[in-house]
Amino acid sequence: MWMAGYASRTGPSEGVTQDLFAKVLVLEDGQGGRFVTLTMDLIGIPSSLRSSVVEALRKQHQLPPERVFMNCSHTHCGPEFRVGKSLYLEVMDHGDNRSAEYGAWLAGELARITGEAIQRLAPVKLSATHARCGFAMNRRLPTRLGYKNSPYPDGPVDQAVPVLEVQGADGKLLAVMFGYACHNTTLSFQQFCGDYAGYAQEYLEAAHPGAVALFVMGCGGDQNPYPRGKLELAQQHGRALANAVEAALTVTQKQLVLGPVKAAMGTVVLPFAPPPSKAELEKLAASTNRWEAAHASMQLKKLEVEGKLASSYNYPVQVVKLGSDFTLVALGGEVVVDYALRLKQELPKKSTVWVAGYSNDVMGYIPSRRVLEEGGYEAGGAMLYTAHPGPWKPEVEELIISKVHELDRQLAE
Ligand SMILES: [Zn+2]
Repeated sequence: MWMAGYASRTGPSEGVTQDLFAKVLVLEDGQGGRFVTLTMDLIGIPSSLRSSVVEALRKQHQLPPERVFMNCSHTHCGPEFRVGKSLYLEVMDHGDNRSAEYGAWLAGELARITGEAIQRLAPVKLSATHARCGFAMNRRLPTRLGYKNSPYPDGPVDQAVPVLEVQGADGKLLAVMFGYACHNTTLSFQQFCGDYAGYAQEYLEAAHPGAVALFVMGCGGDQNPYPRGKLELAQQHGRALANAVEAALTVTQKQLVLGPVKAAMGTVVLPFAPPPSKAELEKLAASTNRWEAAHASMQLKKLEVEGKLASSYNYPVQVVKLGSDFTLVALGGEVVVDYALRLKQELPKKSTVWVAGYSNDVMGYIPSRRVLEEGGYEAGGAMLYTAHPGPWKPEVEELIISKVHELDRQLAE
């Protein structure tokens, strides 16, 4: 298949360096309330994929959508399957129709493995713990010419490694869910591979036979793994992250996580900044930059067919509580690190506040007000590779954060 992740790719995958996985963790509390986590070694989650999975799980298992949490590792060495969601397939025009087939097959598989896990429910002990890992670095280097994608050791980071340990009645590790806020982009070669997150999961599963390791991407929109570019480096970062998880598991006084499971999900209408005029779009459509031209042509077509461009996007926010001391916030899109740092400060903190990005619908970058005002790739430059008309309005941060607080208060009642 054609590969996702980089606009500079000129051919399909040439092989498999590491298998890609979808994994599921189903938790059920004493009242039969369930919470499903689905993690995937894939670039993103189109809203259509989530809709299909949620619909199947509702029909087959009576699961409400707010109890289904989907997260992708954002590996840039996976298949491109986001048909109609990215300009990528259209601009590449490679005549590969397997992308749509793959998306449909994947939705079925995600529902199927969830059903299998439900069949295998067993008593477990859940513990929350955490450690740190240092290879993530801010990638927005301020220069005289604006923000450049380059290591910036003085920029904000979130190097926390949250861990949820799942032990069977005999104390054996059955599953370990762990997070990190860093682009999964050590690699850019023409091979399928889970990158550092794939290796961290592989090493943990090798060290704990029979256990399933699930990686959850945090708010790593503006974070990169450094150094990068070679397979050995992806493996080194994977080893470093696996070591951090092992360190977290050695903690003797972990936080016991109890039920009940409570979950809430809401939509925020995120506004786009005013788009270019028709005349400006026509000028851009003639650009020699093929991405600029394709993006403008797409907007012009939309203008012609629908009479207007999109003015907002329905953005998903999910909050899940396990008992009263464990809170998971799942945000859509490529969320920058400011969101995690802010929410971990602001949410009522008894013990665990885990903030995941790249969840449920990955529609593009989600900059903070700071990043939007600074400008650069994550602030709006990257919108060129999406179907969106352009950058967000600066108020998106407040809208998202307020929704998280609203859902959190709702669950605390
Ligand atoms: Zn990205």
